[in-house]
Amino acid sequence: MRPFFESQLKICGVDYFDFYLMHAQSKDVFTHFKRCRAYEQAFELKKEGKIRHVGLSFHDSAAVLDQILTEYPQVEFVQIQLNYVDYEDPSVQSRKCLEVCNKHGKPAIVMEPVKGGNLVNLPAGAKKHFEALGSASPASYAIRFAAGCKGVFMVLSGMSNMEQMRDNLSYMKDFKPLDEREMQAVSQVCAVFKGMNLIPCTACRYCTAGCPQKISIPDLFACLNTKNIYHDWNANFYYNEVHTKTGGKASACIACGKCEKACPQHLPIRNLLKDVAKEFEK
Ligand code: SF4
Ligand code: SF4
Repeated sequence: MRPFFESQLKICGVDYFDFYLMHAQSKDVFTHFKRCRAYEQAFELKKEGKIRHVGLSFHDSAAVLDQILTEYPQVEFVQIQLNYVDYEDPSVQSRKCLEVCNKHGKPAIVMEPVKGGNLVNLPAGAKKHFEALGSASPASYAIRFAAGCKGVFMVLSGMSNMEQMRDNLSYMKDFKPLDEREMQAVSQVCAVFKGMNLIPCTACRYCTAGCPQKISIPDLFACLNTKNIYHDWNANFYYNEVHTKTGGKASACIACGKCEKACPQHLPIRNLLKDVAKEFEK
């Protein structure tokens, strides 16, 4: 780990890291990190002043998180996936993971508060519930939901332009958690999402680098989700003319399984690609 760590410092042009995370911990990844004594190395580096705070980012069940924090109580913070749709999701287990953080007294950083953008561009049936409350953006409800959860000390909102930053600042400057009416609207939006059976891909793109068929997996999933939401031709255009122009089509998948090993959401990518092919390659 040391030469790797030194190269990270060099690439970032810094002498130390404020927050250093054991990346994307799950049952399997944790086993590997343990075998490499990565945690022990990170704690050593902290003693040497090269890391201020050692933490981890996490994608697995609450039971696995409990195991990690029990084995390594020196971990100072945990980054978890949390948003209102995944809060009670049986595979993501946002609420349960946050409860584990609270039990161990570890502050939580939230990633994916807007679920890869899925909670920003809401389907009409969902949007109306927030519109009935006033003019605040759908993103504002998602980020305030995350920031209002007990034990959360930071929300990574993934802004991509000045307008989004201004929007974020407008409601985070003088932060107020969601009130009862707003929480009710959130529940209604959750119900709409549940009924749509969308692929819960967060577009992190961890799966694409190793694909021998160069399939743009998250973009193809987005096409299918868009089709299921809007039922129009637009998704077909993007499928045929944009996302499969330079990369493989869904049917080009050779089922090697590399992508599934990399997916933090544990999606059955091979089977889902069959659904994509069925829809767009009729
Ligand atoms: S299983 Fe299919 S999509 Fe996944 S890496 Fe292999 S070829 Fe690519
Ligand atoms: S790794 Fe999983 S969640 Fe991330 S883009 Fe690929 S399919 Fe989506």
